[in-house]
Amino acid sequence: MTTRTADVAIVGGGVIGTSIAYRLAQAGKKVVLAERYDFAAGATGSCDQMVSMQSKNPGIHLQLASDSADMFTTLGKELDYDIEYFRHGGMITIENDKEMAVMTDFVKRQRENGVEVDIISRDEASKRQKGLAKHLLGCTYCAKDGEVNPYKLNLGFAKAARREGAELLIDAEVTGFKMEGGRVKGIQTTKGDVDAEIVIIAAGAWSPLLGSQLGIKLPIKPRRGQIVITEPVAPFVTGDVLSAQYIVAKYHPETLKDSTQRGVQLGVGLALTQSAKGDILIGATREFVDYDLRNTREGIREILKNATRIVPGLKGINVIRVMSGVRPYTPDGLPLVGFVKGIDGLFMAAGHEGDGIALSAITGKIVSGLICEGKAYRDVSALDPNRFDLFAEKWSSN
Ligand SMILES: Cc1cc2nc3c(=O)[nH]c(=O)nc-3n(C[C@H](O)[C@H](O)[C@H](O)COP(=O)(O)OP(=O)(O)OC[C@H]3O[C@@H](n4cnc5c(N)ncnc54)[C@H](O)[C@@H]3O)c2cc1C
Repeated sequence: MTTRTADVAIVGGGVIGTSIAYRLAQAGKKVVLAERYDFAAGATGSCDQMVSMQSKNPGIHLQLASDSADMFTTLGKELDYDIEYFRHGGMITIENDKEMAVMTDFVKRQRENGVEVDIISRDEASKRQKGLAKHLLGCTYCAKDGEVNPYKLNLGFAKAARREGAELLIDAEVTGFKMEGGRVKGIQTTKGDVDAEIVIIAAGAWSPLLGSQLGIKLPIKPRRGQIVITEPVAPFVTGDVLSAQYIVAKYHPETLKDSTQRGVQLGVGLALTQSAKGDILIGATREFVDYDLRNTREGIREILKNATRIVPGLKGINVIRVMSGVRPYTPDGLPLVGFVKGIDGLFMAAGHEGDGIALSAITGKIVSGLICEGKAYRDVSALDPNRFDLFAEKWSSN
């Protein structure tokens, strides 16, 4: 089999790997990417489509999301591919006083970080979104929230990367790493070896399996999300609609197990969007069930129960299919992006949990900056993979 040579070898052809391949090739690096199946075969092909500000923690997380959203406004044109990006704004529904207190504080902190978010009344929210429940106290609203088609985004990055000279291999599983002393020197794939000075692991939730081949313990865990998809209907969902419980489920998994409600235990939080073709995507669960990608009747039932409680107007729209994917969860909610100390040449770009679509554009830019210029466009030390003890015998997930 052929041995290829590259400056950078990338493992994983999801939205993160292809975004990085594009930026590095654009910066003049010789890039070879190896994807074991096809583009969008992982979480990128089984997720929602939100490019959301409001679901991000105030601080670096939100700043990166905001910078990434700015890139999205011209990204389709730059990639010369219709990625179906729209900025229709987004809301988070508030059902009771406890949620109102949490969201009031969340909004205050987001505003302190420069993102325009407001709390609007139920009546105002109803002017934006039809079919909302009468019991809602109000919603948060952010005009900068948007949506993008994740498949098209992944393909757009892949095609643009190829145009810039990157070689993207599909059906090419990475089976091992080439090492010389304490340095990684390339990858072994089912389509031959790739010799490279830098190897980037961008394999989403599967990254720990690759890390373990190198003796490192990545604190990334697969977190299943089940989604329900309806028949295409006339425009119904405006932008994206989340629920306050979505924020709780995302950032406080430790609180879920104590609930008496099965939906809460399963991490169900409303995530509602409508594709350009008219299907409504109704999400989602947040479950730690290893790499089990099955949909469950219970998960689907709880998603629908939750969605129709908050948006009763959904009743009567037919469900046509379900899907599930694994988000790459990290204990502090931030991805691992940067060189790994202790294995020269090894670079991590994984762990974006439920934000990888929204953060894909900025991740490519950050990685290109770190590799080509030795620094990113802003301080991203919070993403440094070495904040975790990667060589520890055991790590705690929470
Ligand atoms: C239900 C659900 C809803 C979501 N909604 C949103 C949303 O609205 N907005 C948002 O921003 N994010 C959302 N996300 C999160 C988003 O999908 C992920 O963060 C993002 O897709 C991660 O991209 P990735 O490229 O890191 O991983 P993936 O897309 O999983 O790609 C990893 C790739 O690596 C490949 N791979 C694995 N092992 C190997 C190997 N040994 N050799 C070669 N290739 C390998 C896999 O086949 C896969 O294609 C959601 C996720 C889920 C599950």
